[in-house]
Amino acid sequence: MSDHRSHTPADVVARLRDTFATGRTKSLSWRTAQLDALRTLLTERGDELAAALQADLGKGRDEAYRTEIDFTLREIQHTQEHLAEWLRPRPVPVPDRLSPATAHTVQDPLGVVLVIAPWNYPVQLLLAPVVGALAAGNCVVAKPSELAPATSRALAALLPSYLDEDAVAVVEGAVPETTELLAQRFDHIFYTGNGQVGRIVMRAAAEHLTPVTLELGGKSPAFVDRGTDLGVVAARLAATKFMNAGQTCVAPDYVLTDPETARELEKALGSVLRDLYGDDPAASPAYGRIVNERHFDRLTGLLDSGRTVTGGDHDRASRYIAPTVLAEVSPDSPVMAEEIFGPVLPLVEVAGLDEAVAFIRDREKPLALYAFTDSDTTRERLVQETSSGAVAFGLPVAHLTVSDLPFGGVGESGMGNYHGRYSLETFSHRKAVLDKPLR
Ligand code: NAD
Repeated sequence: MSDHRSHTPADVVARLRDTFATGRTKSLSWRTAQLDALRTLLTERGDELAAALQADLGKGRDEAYRTEIDFTLREIQHTQEHLAEWLRPRPVPVPDRLSPATAHTVQDPLGVVLVIAPWNYPVQLLLAPVVGALAAGNCVVAKPSELAPATSRALAALLPSYLDEDAVAVVEGAVPETTELLAQRFDHIFYTGNGQVGRIVMRAAAEHLTPVTLELGGKSPAFVDRGTDLGVVAARLAATKFMNAGQTCVAPDYVLTDPETARELEKALGSVLRDLYGDDPAASPAYGRIVNERHFDRLTGLLDSGRTVTGGDHDRASRYIAPTVLAEVSPDSPVMAEEIFGPVLPLVEVAGLDEAVAFIRDREKPLALYAFTDSDTTRERLVQETSSGAVAFGLPVAHLTVSDLPFGGVGESGMGNYHGRYSLETFSHRKAVLDKPLR
């Protein structure tokens, strides 16, 4: 725990509850002041956070700013630009039989909420939900991931010194600390991570009837249609797959395409990867490392799942795995049995769109579905005939940078969503108000 080391999670929650009870977190001025403070933190201390991300994940400075710090700053800016408008009561028509009367809805803060973040984007995935929770007028307990320890320490030191420390607390720790936290009563729990822990979170929440948002993962497919410009496809696939060494929840997990396109695509990917990271990606400052040895060992166990087109080299001491493309991968191979969450891109062959749709529908609902196609019919069919958290054509991952799009999964990839106004809705209760005059 950061500033209140001797306090138990129960003490922390009680302190935040007292603050919420004063009502001060409900004013627009308090909310705006907290968002300003968070912006100041990211602006003044961005370099410290970038250094922590480098220490934890070998994340390059540019990538740290682009995908974590500046990302969160944009989320703050978007929220500040629209907050007053989003908070305006929404009038609702009243049926004639109740006339004269008026009705509207208001966004009511929930109280004390818990945000649990994973290690892969440890700044963004802790702070972007915190932005929504504060904008909605709540007190927040933020639990960073112990698997990104330098970032966890930095956030625990910085957040209480910039934000209202009686309304925002950071609790650091691993399973025992999180288990103790989850035993407390919260008004919402926002969890990002894997589905196994998602189930633990949901079970704990059920004890207190606490609503949950679960931002989980899964295998996000990328369908490549016949006849598309494979230079562009390869460049966009590689840039989004191998960013953060593949440890991105919305990274394209595998490619589905016909055999002929697969042959051409593998050549294009090889050349694009040389452009991105040079002949020796281990020496590229833009290329990250695997978070820990457990994940390193898991990933190296997947490298024999197909014919190696490029990559395959690895070094346990530095937790380096080269950007790897595997061709002619069987749907039954180990690499297709779990979310990869690392720098390995399998190419799986299907006859065409019908088989691709069947392949996707046979598996758990992914967090995102990507497709590269020039055909409107194909686009329409993929949207209509498959289920996923999001669909993006032509460019993976970027949908999550559109603040007005809800970000979240469905089925095994999660429940609920956030970003922009959806964060406000997630962290508020939409309260119905009816007003019938006495006379
Ligand atoms: P992780 O190991 O850091 O775990 C996430 C959080 O859960 C941590 O804060 C950790 O302390 C806590 N935790 C772990 N075990 C627990 C337990 N037994 N009880 C209570 N809390 C516990 O991260 P991870 O789960 O390895 O993250 C990777 C997964 O997250 C992938 O599946 C990825 O797709 C998914 N993910 C999803 C999103 C999204 O936005 N949907 C974003 C990033 C990652």
